[in-house]
Amino acid sequence: MKRTKAVETRVFAFSIAGAFVLLTGCQVQTPERLTAVPFTAVTVTDEFWTPRMRTNREVTIPYDFKKCEETGRIDNFAKAGRLMEGKFQGIRFDDSDVFKVIEGAAYSLHLHPDPELEQYLDDLIAKIAAAQEEDGYLYTCRTIDPDNMPRDTGETRWSFLQSSHELYNVGHMYEAAVAHYQATGKRTFLDVAIKNADLIDRVFGRDKKRDVPGHEEIEIGLVKLYGVTGDEKYLTLAKFFLDERGRANGRKIYGEYCQDHKPVIKQRAAVGHAVRAGYLYSGMADIAALVPDAGYVEALDPIWQDVVSKKLYITGGIGARGGGESFGDGYELPNETAYCETCAAIANAMWNHRMSLLHADAQYIDVLERVIYNGFLSGISLGGNKFFYPNPLASEGTYQRSPWFGCACCPTNIVRFMPSLPGYAYAYQRDCLYVNLFVSGSATVTMGADAVRVTQQTRYPWDGSVKILVEPESRPAGQEFTMCVRIPGWAQESPVPSDLYLYSDLGPEDWTQRRVTVTVNGRPVALDVVKGYARIRRTWEAGDVVELNLPMPIRRVRSHRKVRANTGRIALQRGPVVYCFEGVDNPQGVANLVLPPEATLQAEYRSDLLGGVVRITGQGKIRQSQDGGKTVLKDIEVTAIPYYAWAHRGKNEMAVWVPESGSGDL
Ligand SMILES: [Zn+2]
Repeated sequence: MKRTKAVETRVFAFSIAGAFVLLTGCQVQTPERLTAVPFTAVTVTDEFWTPRMRTNREVTIPYDFKKCEETGRIDNFAKAGRLMEGKFQGIRFDDSDVFKVIEGAAYSLHLHPDPELEQYLDDLIAKIAAAQEEDGYLYTCRTIDPDNMPRDTGETRWSFLQSSHELYNVGHMYEAAVAHYQATGKRTFLDVAIKNADLIDRVFGRDKKRDVPGHEEIEIGLVKLYGVTGDEKYLTLAKFFLDERGRANGRKIYGEYCQDHKPVIKQRAAVGHAVRAGYLYSGMADIAALVPDAGYVEALDPIWQDVVSKKLYITGGIGARGGGESFGDGYELPNETAYCETCAAIANAMWNHRMSLLHADAQYIDVLERVIYNGFLSGISLGGNKFFYPNPLASEGTYQRSPWFGCACCPTNIVRFMPSLPGYAYAYQRDCLYVNLFVSGSATVTMGADAVRVTQQTRYPWDGSVKILVEPESRPAGQEFTMCVRIPGWAQESPVPSDLYLYSDLGPEDWTQRRVTVTVNGRPVALDVVKGYARIRRTWEAGDVVELNLPMPIRRVRSHRKVRANTGRIALQRGPVVYCFEGVDNPQGVANLVLPPEATLQAEYRSDLLGGVVRITGQGKIRQSQDGGKTVLKDIEVTAIPYYAWAHRGKNEMAVWVPESGSGDL
């Protein structure tokens, strides 16, 4: 693969992992700010994630491209470029799906060179370039036939930004173009993106057209474009789109649905469409890292508190309501009708990662981890070619993953998120190395002039024992730095960083089974935990080994009393994994299951089940009606599986939250 020296430098200097954080050309940074170790510097050999990343590469990316072809999404570019005849096919934001799959394919190429895939991208990018109008405009439906536009597009360019997704689409294009440039060193797609962004910059601004996209995304893309080009006008334009929200400068504001009800610096609660919100907060966090006086942190902190205290599902999902695909009111967290769009889970993870870097605090990684092992992962089948759009927490047995959707945002978001996951595992700041996620594999972390190689060995999330080997590459004889190892909230009696969910049991009777321990070269170290990280400072030498032991008893979780949907109910969690009861394992039915506090439960790893999972079994009860209307409880065996793995064995009832007691006589 061709890669110029300049690209190498950029790749090193600019994380294209989930956070896509800018590391160079920055203005003043907040002193505590962390830098993510890009996924390109992390090698994953993990028993849990490696097969999923392989499936993403081998199945989902080609599958998504095939679907984009079959549905006319790719032909739309060829038609706009006059490479073929025909009408626009599909929905006004379909261009964005193609961009997202290119982004995922580029990440994949970066890790696994594949000349065939690279050629496919070259051909596709040539169609996209052909579809671009002379002045840089790119929106296939308008270019194909401006007189026969699909609905909600506006009569002229950018005349209906509330719904047209013109700026949303190109935001995804910028992200994809940057990823492609970094993966291949080719400027073909990047030049298309720059030409488009330059047009947007000529049209929009404080002294120009004052409007904002109804669906945020361009802000994230522009920040990435700034990162790779160093051209500050993109950063200024991104900030303009953020600051213009909620301000009626010559236009009607769009309201809460689009987070356009008040200026972003005055927002204090998460409202409206959950994916839009997650992208908005991610874009704000990106710029907050570069422009500390933007006032965004003062808004992001209370908004985050609002989500984790009142609007977060135990699966890490956000967006309670199907209507408006939106956040509900505080504590409005229904189970069967939970919307929890897969894209919203991804947006929540992206946002929390950026918050963790801003604040150097592990509580954000706690939320991110909850998302990736639960509410995100449920969105994709084990086989890699079926998808959930909403991810409910209960089902009567009619809900299944689909091969595709007319609005295909989720399947195409998954393919770009999955390969970027290793970029969430590590971060650093000056001479502190942060271990955020527990994933087998190695990373090279460059702190100042010194490179340190860290290698993890673990069976996480099934086992809480993590071995971290340290090799100071530049100074094998010894290098002093602080290793900050995340001690997850779930291992410290705090499943989420709020009182929204609490453990309802006392845990194992034997306290030694609950104690988190850390040793260095076999010797216990006193836990010095600051902002969720155990800090170990020493002169590290090649061959030093840190061993972290996170006991993983099965825990019962209850909700805040104001979550009415979960009154009297508990959920099971083991380590970071949330469990559910599925009909196929519980043939007496799930709706009437009861799990009394005294029920004994066992965890057992089953390699032959659902790709290898720890299953929970135990003694529960079932409510049965008898003649005369009396309800009785009968003893039964119950089985729970990880929530992410449900809906793989036919149509099934499912519940995450089950009652602790049954009504009627025992
Ligand atoms: Zn989606």
